[in-house]
Amino acid sequence: MTRIPVIAGNWKMNKTPAEAAELARTFVGALAATARVEVILCPPFVCLSAVYAEIKNSRLGLGAQNLHWEKSGAFTGEVSAPMLSGWCSHVIIGHSERRQFFGETDDTVNKKVKAALAHNLTPIICVGELLTEYEASKTNEVVTRQMKGAYDGLSKDNALKTIIAYEPVWAIGTGKAATGAGANTVIGISIRGVLSDLYGATVADSIRVQYGGSVTPANIKEFMTQPDIDGALVGGASLKANDFQTIVEEAMKAKM
Ligand code: PEP
Repeated sequence: MTRIPVIAGNWKMNKTPAEAAELARTFVGALAATARVEVILCPPFVCLSAVYAEIKNSRLGLGAQNLHWEKSGAFTGEVSAPMLSGWCSHVIIGHSERRQFFGETDDTVNKKVKAALAHNLTPIICVGELLTEYEASKTNEVVTRQMKGAYDGLSKDNALKTIIAYEPVWAIGTGKAATGAGANTVIGISIRGVLSDLYGATVADSIRVQYGGSVTPANIKEFMTQPDIDGALVGGASLKANDFQTIVEEAMKAKM
């Protein structure tokens, strides 16, 4: 099964529209020769228009960092899937920062995944255990629960349109990445395992799974050479033009 590598940059709450446009412009030039890797930039909502203007004629994809599951209505401060689908190809859903700081649950993640798919947005579904859960050897249990919640009621065809990011929370922004082998095991057992139970082995083998958590130019190869890891969701390093370019180039080389 050939899965196209996919690297996404989560810019989190960083960059003004002008700064975001400048960084996006850099990537359009710098990443032109990395065609075998799908690359998605995920700036803040207010930067989507500016980044879209820079990348619309390039091969780069554009992702939002969140959405609301309703189409419209009295939800002050929220942004819906139909508002994003003119610009975005992807949307990050259930990032651990949203689960930790904004009360997202497996249930809201599921509603958001369905809303994204209904509007032709590819969800990048984030799962991963907290440090306390990792230390209590509950990784498998937690990730399995998150996976079952996210895919509840999703058809096989819709499941095939998703991307998953396995992001151990203790590795995000800490500089303490998981090991390639450790992440590969969680992905193989708790992520592809659940997908296989829900949809069968062929589907489980077709869906792309990223690793996320302190990915850098120095460690990307360790992840990309693992058989079950198809890419990375990159936070801090995606804001550094040279680092992100190197991560994409290394990802391409590792899967050649
Ligand atoms: C993230 O934001 O999803 C992430 C993995 O961040 P970082 O690469 O900075 O750890």
